[in-house]
Amino acid sequence: MASPGATTGPQAPVRVARAVTVFGRVQGVGFRPFVHRLATRLGLDGWVLNADGRVELTVAGPPPSVQALVELLRVEAPPLADIRRVTVADLSGPPPPPGSGFTVRASARTGSSRPAAREIPPDIATCEACLRELFGPADRRYRYPFVNCTNCGPRATVIEDLPYDRERTVMRRFPLCAACAAEYADPADRRFHAEPVACPDCGPRLEWEDLTGEAALRAAESVVDSGGIMAIKGLGGFQLVCDATDAEAVNRLRARKLRPAKPFAVMASDIAAARRLARLSSAGVTALTSPAAPVVLAPARQGSGIPPGVHAGTDHIGVFLPTTPLHHLLLRDLGRPLVVTSGNRSGEPITVDEPTARETLAGVADGFLVHNRPIRARYDDSVVRTVGRTVTTLRRARGLSPAALVIPVAAAQPVVAAGAQLKHTFTLAEGTCAVLGPHTGDLEDARTLDAFKTAYADLVRLTGIEPQVVAHDLHPGYLSTQWARARPAERRIAVQHHHAHVAACAAEHGLDRPFLGVAYDGLGLGDDGTLWGGEILVADLTRYRRVGRFATAPLPGGAAAVRRPARMAMGYLYGVEALGEPGFPPSLVGAFERRLAPEETRVVRAMVERGVNCPRASSAGRLFDAAAGLLGLCDDATYEGQAAVALETAAGDEYAEALPWRLARADGLWVYDPVPTLTALLDRAVAGERTSTLAAAFHRTLAEVTSGLVQRAVAAGAPSTLCLSGGCFQNARLLAETRSLLEEQGLRVLVGSAVPVNDGGISYGQAAVAAARLREG
Ligand SMILES: [Zn+2]
Ligand SMILES: [Zn+2]
Repeated sequence: MASPGATTGPQAPVRVARAVTVFGRVQGVGFRPFVHRLATRLGLDGWVLNADGRVELTVAGPPPSVQALVELLRVEAPPLADIRRVTVADLSGPPPPPGSGFTVRASARTGSSRPAAREIPPDIATCEACLRELFGPADRRYRYPFVNCTNCGPRATVIEDLPYDRERTVMRRFPLCAACAAEYADPADRRFHAEPVACPDCGPRLEWEDLTGEAALRAAESVVDSGGIMAIKGLGGFQLVCDATDAEAVNRLRARKLRPAKPFAVMASDIAAARRLARLSSAGVTALTSPAAPVVLAPARQGSGIPPGVHAGTDHIGVFLPTTPLHHLLLRDLGRPLVVTSGNRSGEPITVDEPTARETLAGVADGFLVHNRPIRARYDDSVVRTVGRTVTTLRRARGLSPAALVIPVAAAQPVVAAGAQLKHTFTLAEGTCAVLGPHTGDLEDARTLDAFKTAYADLVRLTGIEPQVVAHDLHPGYLSTQWARARPAERRIAVQHHHAHVAACAAEHGLDRPFLGVAYDGLGLGDDGTLWGGEILVADLTRYRRVGRFATAPLPGGAAAVRRPARMAMGYLYGVEALGEPGFPPSLVGAFERRLAPEETRVVRAMVERGVNCPRASSAGRLFDAAAGLLGLCDDATYEGQAAVALETAAGDEYAEALPWRLARADGLWVYDPVPTLTALLDRAVAGERTSTLAAAFHRTLAEVTSGLVQRAVAAGAPSTLCLSGGCFQNARLLAETRSLLEEQGLRVLVGSAVPVNDGGISYGQAAVAAARLREG
């Protein structure tokens, strides 16, 4: 019964001492101040400190109080904490003397035995208490753009190393003034051990040309007020800002940023203002007001004063709330919604340092509102969408990454998964912990590759995960694959693109059993050397078997067909896989061709007939392109997925019966033959039927086709748990209709939520597959 540190006697011990260790996301979330308050309330003696990635407590007191502390650690934990495990052991050293009180001690850095991966807290949007100070004229932080506390403020973007302490953040450059130091040291204060704490006297300050502080802010605001474009140094990178109600300013921004059509996000001052811009579901409101404060994609309201150019080609608008005090000040002072978009030229990574920003954004911004707090890591804004009660993440970055996720099979060796190409991310995994790094952009050039390498080096250092195993895509042309193959590694694991997609969904839901995967996306390399993208797979985390697919069609000119849906439509008309039924009626093909230049149709037809530069793909995404091209909705796409967005938008709120469709058997697989579908689509379009009806009918058709393919697979013995993944399921209508049809069949349908269904989730899926393969040896 006696234990070291316990006072023993004839009865039960009156005082025990314990070493308590808390694992999970417990640093940067106000955990030590919370423990301090709790232990003090319970009258315990001892201390708390941040160790490598954990929080360690030494506590002594009456056994019931110590017991209560251990229980309340979980019950009353701060909202941003995520406790995975609490261990309680007898104390090995001398116990804290009775009546010595409870303190927060300096962090311990243990170099010898490395614990499980350390968890880095994401950035947190400004809290209510800080907002009251920001707008409270009597407060000493009145209108101070860097106000923060234990519950809010920068984290991942300022941390240089763990344990999380000011001296290991960029805030070490700002010695605390007496007032801030007092708050930092006062256990009763909201800023007790708030590492980025700052005030106008000691913290960072704004700059605009020769002006500083409030004058700088006012000068920048006057530029936006008069229709200009301002670059601001945000939390995880530079942003471009203009008046969202000023059509000319928005058009200027598009022209200068070389972004003709992709929608811009709009920042609104508060939830009431956001509701005036968009029809928000309750799940949407929850997401908007969450500590991560992502951009939420929702149906735009008519007559909100936002010109159509902000979200050209879609009836959805991306809205978000201010994420930093600086954003709050801008929104409040300017009194109107603002376009706030990544400070980069189209396709490049978001800019983080001032010299680069001044160079790359020179022709874009009319001025630079900067400050002297360095940005330690690149975090673009996150984007989510709600479908019913489900939140789907389209881009996982600021506020969400690098919060740790779980994978169902523990990785026996540390893994880096290199991801794919578009919407690139990478993932580090060790044990069951997987850290999905922030969105870096399309990994197609040296700048994005550099951004990836920098983010990788940073996260390796911060998490302490040192990969020995590298997982990557099959595609040899991806820069991510080339990076993976060039790295020293004990083992390399190639993971097929669509297997990674559906494995990501399964892993997020903790599924370590066989399932049926539906992967619909643009393009990914199959294991047979052809391009895939409309795939039904019987899979588990280790392996997969293809049981169904979409018919193949040529991509005339390869990437050129991806950029031009009209050309993709020709690819289907001239060269869709023959599956035993008649092809397209020539008269109908002629009717479509009349809309295009004769030279183009002649050249493309010749390419397809001779098979010159015409890779074939069984892609659902390309079929969406073709349908949009046939309907004349989107002849050219300036960003990935634009044609699918155009089709979804065209369908509006309309419901329509499905178009004809047909499944055929080929090479032992069920194959969707789109000829009847596209024939009917074109025929009815030529006959003058409303585009909205046809767009709705096309979505309904793909939902029924999916249901048909799944039914046949299940009838042949496939599992009845389904994982839907791939970029096509960013389309809310496709997802909702497909899911309801499948659920009507009594199937269990899973879809990614925290992990993007698009290629941003590939790296997490690769990591889950790699861990499962390592288990097999
Ligand atoms: Zn706060
Ligand atoms: Zn201060």
